[in-house]
Amino acid sequence: MTQGTYFAWELASRGDAPCVRDDRLQLSYVQFAQRVDAVAQQLAGLGVGPGDMVATFLPNRAELLITLMAAWRLRAVATPVNPGFTDAEAEYQLGDSGAKVVVGQAPVGDPARIFLDVDDLAVRPTAQWTPPTPPTEADDALLIYTSGSTGRPKGVRLGHDNLHFFGRSGGEHFQCGPDTHALLILPLFHVNAICVSCLTPIMAGGQVSITGQFSVSRFFDDVTRLRPTFFSAVPTIYALLVSQAGGVPPGALDSLRYAICGAAPISPELLAKTEETFGVPIVEGYGLTEATCASACNPVGGVRKLGTVGPALPGQRIRIVDANGDDAPTGQRGEVLIAGPAVMRGYLNRPEATAETIVDGWLHTGDVGILDDDGYLRIVDRIKDMIIRGGENIYPKEIEAALATNPAVLECAVVGAPDPLLGEVPVAFVVGYPGTDLTADDLAEFVAPQLTKVKRPSAIHIVDALPRNPVGKIDKPGLRRQTAAAGQ
Ligand code: ATP
Repeated sequence: MTQGTYFAWELASRGDAPCVRDDRLQLSYVQFAQRVDAVAQQLAGLGVGPGDMVATFLPNRAELLITLMAAWRLRAVATPVNPGFTDAEAEYQLGDSGAKVVVGQAPVGDPARIFLDVDDLAVRPTAQWTPPTPPTEADDALLIYTSGSTGRPKGVRLGHDNLHFFGRSGGEHFQCGPDTHALLILPLFHVNAICVSCLTPIMAGGQVSITGQFSVSRFFDDVTRLRPTFFSAVPTIYALLVSQAGGVPPGALDSLRYAICGAAPISPELLAKTEETFGVPIVEGYGLTEATCASACNPVGGVRKLGTVGPALPGQRIRIVDANGDDAPTGQRGEVLIAGPAVMRGYLNRPEATAETIVDGWLHTGDVGILDDDGYLRIVDRIKDMIIRGGENIYPKEIEAALATNPAVLECAVVGAPDPLLGEVPVAFVVGYPGTDLTADDLAEFVAPQLTKVKRPSAIHIVDALPRNPVGKIDKPGLRRQTAAAGQ
């Protein structure tokens, strides 16, 4: 098998079986394959070839998936950009990735870059078209941006081998087959949505229903109408679903076989309550973009252990190491390391960051975990400086950099504060230059154009000085404790 995740040869052979639908389109495998070919041909006409970067700036809709696969058909690489990004945030990703073409609903970033309006995407290939050689497993397929705890966002390079491995092994874990029907509710600029909700069902011949912006009422309408067999969501979504006034509409969840939870810690209480409300297993998994998607997950059919994220998925290896890098005994905490065919190629154009993150083939996750006697993993803490707000990762460094561009800001620190619904929210502490008249409201207004809504601090505290540890570093754990104790 050298064709990686180049699906088109399989897609067309699945005939009229339903493949992908959204609010506007309902496509069988043959129709979907035809659209992929048509867009590939169109992109080739714009000069896209092997190794080129194709960006999307789209909300969840079928054309986003079509564009990803069209890029793969050309041996090009796809980078989906968060459609909620400000122009500056989007331009950073487009520039850093070297995007040649952007497919979007409205132009974004540098006007000199080729922009293709999603409404102008071709729907049928024109004359007989000979596509180039299919990609091999060695070709890059996806570039997903994660900020990382240091500096600016970094592009995670995932190859066709990574996607192919996850599509097959994840598909087996989630028992995917032609009758699998995923309801996609998470955003397609993250690996969870692409890999769990799209690749695993499509590689198994199943179908995907893409829904728009998540809302509780929309969710219950969609599951009742579309009758999916599973969906994948983050803890905040489960918290909203189980607290819905009036309970779950009768019969709404009958088609579900299980649901998947990941991306952020979920409390055992919420997970148990969700299972009770939904009446199906809620399987919690753990992973990160640098490892393609989930690396550990509780089984759908076997023993699920509450409070754990399950054992390593088949073909993947997990180790726990202490501060010296030695293997920690079973039951002891340490950093979670991952190895196997799902580990990324590296960060785009950042060999040093790559070398720091992948050492001797082991991916250093920055998460702290414990393995039990059965190999089940419990995530207990995080070493990396990261906030997870409603499943969305936020890097304090990025917010601090935005605040620091204000000439009145002397120094600042951003930490996560606990939030009952969102898990964590970012809170900023800012020291102004002497004699300046900084206010929290002015600063909030100042950073708003630089940061997507989720990254904007929930509170900004103007303080005289920031606490420091004995070596002079800002004492973030202290600030975190102070924030938690004060309820922000
Ligand atoms: P996606 O971005 O598609 O939502 P993801 O959350 O798995 O996927 P990242 O955005 O790269 O991937 O975030 C990975 C980080 O999220 C992990 O390193 C860990 O800190 C946190 N995380 C993911 N799953 C869990 C979980 N089940 N419990 C606790 N933390 C988790």
